[in-house]
Amino acid sequence: MSATATDKSAKISVRGLKKSFGSNEVLKGLDVDVAEGEVVCVIGPSGSGKSTFLRCLNKLEDITAGTVTVNGFDLTDAKVDLNTVRQNIGMVFQHFNLFPHMSVIQNIMLAPVELKKLDKAGAREKAMELLRRVGLAEKADARPASLSGGQKQRVAIARALAMNPGIMLFDEATSALDPEMVGEVLQVIRDLAAEGMTMVVVTHEMGFAREVADRVIFMDAGYICEEGTPEAIFSNAQQPRLQEFLAKVL
Ligand code: ADP
Ligand code: MG
Repeated sequence: MSATATDKSAKISVRGLKKSFGSNEVLKGLDVDVAEGEVVCVIGPSGSGKSTFLRCLNKLEDITAGTVTVNGFDLTDAKVDLNTVRQNIGMVFQHFNLFPHMSVIQNIMLAPVELKKLDKAGAREKAMELLRRVGLAEKADARPASLSGGQKQRVAIARALAMNPGIMLFDEATSALDPEMVGEVLQVIRDLAAEGMTMVVVTHEMGFAREVADRVIFMDAGYICEEGTPEAIFSNAQQPRLQEFLAKVL
């Protein structure tokens, strides 16, 4: 699995990734490839480094050692224009981070207009199309504060998609939601998977990971402890740490 040479056909190729905060090494040498159209779910206990790993994929964190290559660009190369690479990576967080003083549609139009210099009419048309896709066309002119948590998160996904990213990263996108709203957000992510979006999804939703992932990575204490198909991970776990984790969460 952990070939040393960067896999040039991969959308994301991580080699020997280490990340320390001060003297605390939280990622201890990760090797990961994500192929075009692949859905990789990352599971593991709190504090195991899942969010830090995801944030290294668009260099929201400085990388202590190793390489992270996205669409052929090595993010650790100072000559690489990070903004260009980041425009191709949509990220959705646990907390939606919508701009409260803007309407839903303004939230979605902002980046395409500011960063891609799309004209407003074109950006609005695209934003409406995305709102229809996440089932919220009627909320275009609403303020985020008037939406439910599930609706806010669907807007956040639409906003990320507005830049036409080739890769989507989700960090516990449903963890802050009331249980009855989890399903509607997972459905949007499921639809993206079916459309062939390349995705890395950190999730506590084991049922979802089992159903949607092409591959599941179990992280523990800064390492990839085990990885494999959903079947291998959930029905045939090898490592005791994974077995313990699953016994707690399933
Ligand atoms: P997970 O997402 O799996 O819960 P994190 O990646 O958030 O784990 O955190 C892994 C470890 O890194 C934790 O010990 C956490 O305290 C530490 N950590 C995360 N972000 C920072 C930061 N900005 N500064 C210092 N330590 C951090
Ligand atoms: Mg986290």
